[in-house]
Amino acid sequence: MLNDYVKIFDTTLRDGEQSPGCSMNIEEKVRLAKQLEKLGVDTIEAGFPIASPDDFSAVSEISAILKNAEVCGLARALEKDIKKAWDAIKKAKKPRIHTFLATSDIHLKYKLKMTRKEALKQAVLMVKYAKSLCDRVDFSPEDAARSDKLYLYEVLSAVIEAGADTINIPDTVGYAMPEEFGELIADIIKNVPLIKKKNIIVSTHCHNDLGLAVANSLAGVINGASQIECTINGIGERAGNASLEEVVMAISTRKGFFNLKTGIITKEIYPTSKLLTQITGVKVQPNKAIVGANAFAHEAGIHQDGILKQRETYEIMKPEDLGINKTKLILGKHSGSHAFNDRLNELGFNLNKEELEDAFIKFKVLADKKKNVYDEDIALIASESGKVIKETYILKTLNVVCGTHGLPTASIILIDKDGKEHAEAKIGDGPVDAIYQAVNSILGIKNKLLEFLIKEVTEGIDAQAVVTVKLEIEDKVYFGRGSSTDIVVASAHAYLNALNKYLALNV
Ligand SMILES: [Zn+2]
Repeated sequence: MLNDYVKIFDTTLRDGEQSPGCSMNIEEKVRLAKQLEKLGVDTIEAGFPIASPDDFSAVSEISAILKNAEVCGLARALEKDIKKAWDAIKKAKKPRIHTFLATSDIHLKYKLKMTRKEALKQAVLMVKYAKSLCDRVDFSPEDAARSDKLYLYEVLSAVIEAGADTINIPDTVGYAMPEEFGELIADIIKNVPLIKKKNIIVSTHCHNDLGLAVANSLAGVINGASQIECTINGIGERAGNASLEEVVMAISTRKGFFNLKTGIITKEIYPTSKLLTQITGVKVQPNKAIVGANAFAHEAGIHQDGILKQRETYEIMKPEDLGINKTKLILGKHSGSHAFNDRLNELGFNLNKEELEDAFIKFKVLADKKKNVYDEDIALIASESGKVIKETYILKTLNVVCGTHGLPTASIILIDKDGKEHAEAKIGDGPVDAIYQAVNSILGIKNKLLEFLIKEVTEGIDAQAVVTVKLEIEDKVYFGRGSSTDIVVASAHAYLNALNKYLALNV
């Protein structure tokens, strides 16, 4: 290791943009580039200028705007590519050309149709050409992980001699194992003496085909690499690249293990990830490390209790350090009253002891039906528990039969305030109509249904439905509201709620 600083080379806008569904227009690329600079990346590979006029313009615009980060343009080891890359980046404060040529026999033979000797010559020639235009030159021996090592050392020595200040070692097809890749980096440093002599940066570029891009990149820095090429959210060709947030947080969380640092402002990690998601519409999996929706969500009751007592019991990073507002405790059926009360306070509810007990019972009932209880669910429960109206009738049981055959039938049992049960069964035009007729038959209150609304308040298939009804009774309007994961049950509650209001005020 030359020093303890690991450069972060971001290729979200180049390799990342090549991933399906992740293409961006110029304006979007500029927005993301600005955010990447705010994040503190050392180098932004802004595109592949010869690939298309749009790519060229994006790289050129980004070059004109950025102040601190190096702006890099990718080029094959061809004169026209390098010229185009230079034209796109020359306005940058710190321009960089990244040129590449494959060194594995399989690529040389089938793709490039070149001999090893020809490839070596071409690489040297093109690095020299790039260096004549731009002071910063990066060279990648494509498919390095599958290249013959002796030949690889020869090529790397020659391109350093020709002017490359960075040599980037790609595991192009994501084939290497961490130990192997680490050893490759160590071997390169040992067998290419010019690296130490000239303070050359050795960089990693790992693909995630076997899910090892981050592990391989970290194995690289342990063995002396001082730059990691990576992308936000790990996007990139096929299974993607090493994810920036994961390599950075591994280095930062395990300081004592790596003894390394990066220039990344970790508070900008989450906002950058969100911006990329927003621009591309490609979401990260919920269990994705660092930036996934569940990365800081604790569901098990024991974990939640532990977190509330002392965060470090179950959390190795602080979400605030990543720019995530706070740990998201997902309440579920395993959650205890401690977590529930805590969340109520955070949401601004201040319930008295009785209301709290009532709300917690309702929460438990809901959590049995619904895996994740969201803030909206809790707010709903709390607002209902906070203002308990005196209910003359409550629903004991409800059964509805409906479908494509036969008439919708509802049978219900209500309990009145004296504890007496009232049972009734009715048929109707639909299940809700059948319920309302059964209720009317028990209560005997003449009313007109003016409005019936169903609203989903939470996400997913197990969302809570809120039904609101508007009834006209004796020229006055009464609103009723009911919630349940079952819209039919919610409809019954809403209807009874309105009728109970009438009874509370008029009887
Ligand atoms: Zn790549």
